[in-house]
Amino acid sequence: MPRIILSVLMLSIIMLSTNVSMAHPGRTDANGGHTCRTNCAEWGLKDGEYHYHNSDGSITTKPPTDPAPAPSNNEASDELKADAIKTPAKGKLSVYFLNVGQGDATYIKTAGGDDILIDAGKNEAGDIVVSYLKQLGVDDIEIMIATHPDSDHIGGLDTVLGSFKVKAVYAPKVSHTTDTFKDFLLAVKKEGLTIKEAKAGLAVPIKGVTAKFLGPVKTYGDDLNDWSAVLHFTYGTTRFLFTGDAEKKSEDDIIASKRALKADVLKIGHHGSVSSTSAAFLKAVSPKYAIISVGKNSYGHPAATIINRLKTAKVTTFRTDLNGTVTVISDGKKIQFMKVK
Ligand SMILES: [Zn+2]
Ligand SMILES: [Zn+2]
Repeated sequence: MPRIILSVLMLSIIMLSTNVSMAHPGRTDANGGHTCRTNCAEWGLKDGEYHYHNSDGSITTKPPTDPAPAPSNNEASDELKADAIKTPAKGKLSVYFLNVGQGDATYIKTAGGDDILIDAGKNEAGDIVVSYLKQLGVDDIEIMIATHPDSDHIGGLDTVLGSFKVKAVYAPKVSHTTDTFKDFLLAVKKEGLTIKEAKAGLAVPIKGVTAKFLGPVKTYGDDLNDWSAVLHFTYGTTRFLFTGDAEKKSEDDIIASKRALKADVLKIGHHGSVSSTSAAFLKAVSPKYAIISVGKNSYGHPAATIINRLKTAKVTTFRTDLNGTVTVISDGKKIQFMKVK
């Protein structure tokens, strides 16, 4: 008898777990959706209602209009697909916040034709960045900036260094023990270059624009994010601020250094993490537009606090995970935005 009780118990456990897994969000049948079995009200559904989980996390009872993602365990390859982007406008400044999934990669083409690259996403984003740059007709890179040694910023730079003639590399004076960082250093050496130190107050010589590092103001020990090279960039009367992953400590030091930091366009620090974009920093920069470079991640980027802070401050915000590559064109007076998605 006890054996029968045990088998009944085990059978019910199996049935229970089957039932639970059937209600798991995202599990789909051949039609791309599934029937809600548990906690339906929590998802805004009726019991037994057939529904779909969209790629942006929302739930609808209609099939998603975007093609359903192919069933794959490889998240990285799903998000690391180069968007089709347009070549730069001649005689204008073009800034591309490239969609590289989780990470940062920003490409700037000046009106004078110079090419600037700030970061190149993760290791596996290197080829995508190279394909973006080729799409855009890049021949060589005058200025490369590695904001800080984290892999989601410098990961793809070695591939870029191997694919284009790079004339100057700037990076903060901090190192890291990872292979990714060593690969970057080796690629710089192979190019026959020595890294120029990015630090607050240093001007970057680029024709027709004013580009100056506002950070790092100090040294930050092991806090790699605060070491980020922060670049202020002016073309005509239009201004941009590229922050890397600088967090509050660095932001406070930048404010205290009293250098001009107002900007029309702000690349939000650290993928919209709550540790960056303090209320004081946002007020000091007072941007009209913000870009969050972010992809699938487990860190909770971007934080709702930051999204709300930007909304309250009436800053128009773009996200590479939702908008794809975000392109900004400046004629020196006016700023124009183009999105891919
Ligand atoms: Zn970082
Ligand atoms: Zn980062």
